[in-house]
Amino acid sequence: MTRQRLILATRNAGKIKELHAILADADLDLELVGADAYPDVPDVKETGVTFAENALLKAHALARATGLPAVADDSGLCVDVLNGAPGIFSARWAGTHGDDRANLDLLLAQLSDIADEHRGAHFACAAALALPDGTERVVEGQMRGVLRHAPVGTNGFGYDPILQPDGHDVTCAQLSPAEKNAISHRGKAFRALVPVVKELLG
Ligand code: IMP
Repeated sequence: MTRQRLILATRNAGKIKELHAILADADLDLELVGADAYPDVPDVKETGVTFAENALLKAHALARATGLPAVADDSGLCVDVLNGAPGIFSARWAGTHGDDRANLDLLLAQLSDIADEHRGAHFACAAALALPDGTERVVEGQMRGVLRHAPVGTNGFGYDPILQPDGHDVTCAQLSPAEKNAISHRGKAFRALVPVVKELLG
């Protein structure tokens, strides 16, 4: 019998590996494939105004185009004193999509006068599952911490070098991938998705 395919709406090999490990732990008999396996499916515009809306948009577009169940995630950094910004604009905060260093430098400059006790922030992630018939579910995960005044560490990506997770004295960029996945917003959201995947596809 062929295994049920589940498509993950990302071309990021790290995310595929992470979801793969989480689903394997859950003992789900699914074949997980990245969106790269469907190169003709166009990237969807992230027109939503919340992480959940954008994750659902991406999951539905892929499920519709392939006729297979699809998972998508959307994430970002939410800073307390900026009322949750950069939020859904995290990847393009400095103007150019995906320029991690420029985004981080701009954010640090904006927060330069903000004292340690007011530098709270969290990473947020929404993970959505959509079926070709339009059924949808979305779950969320967060990782809270404080923002450093300068980047430290070389692991990870994005704002990892400036977020020090609560209960740790190092930044996310000083954690190993496994240490970060165990406490991260994305790890939490993907783990929360497991019972949902079991319910709809198990
Ligand atoms: P996306 O959900 O992969 O599109 O991520 C959006 C943006 O949020 C990224 O480009 C990063 O700037 C930021 N971001 C999301 N998750 C993380 C994380 O785990 N570490 C650092 N930055 C992150």
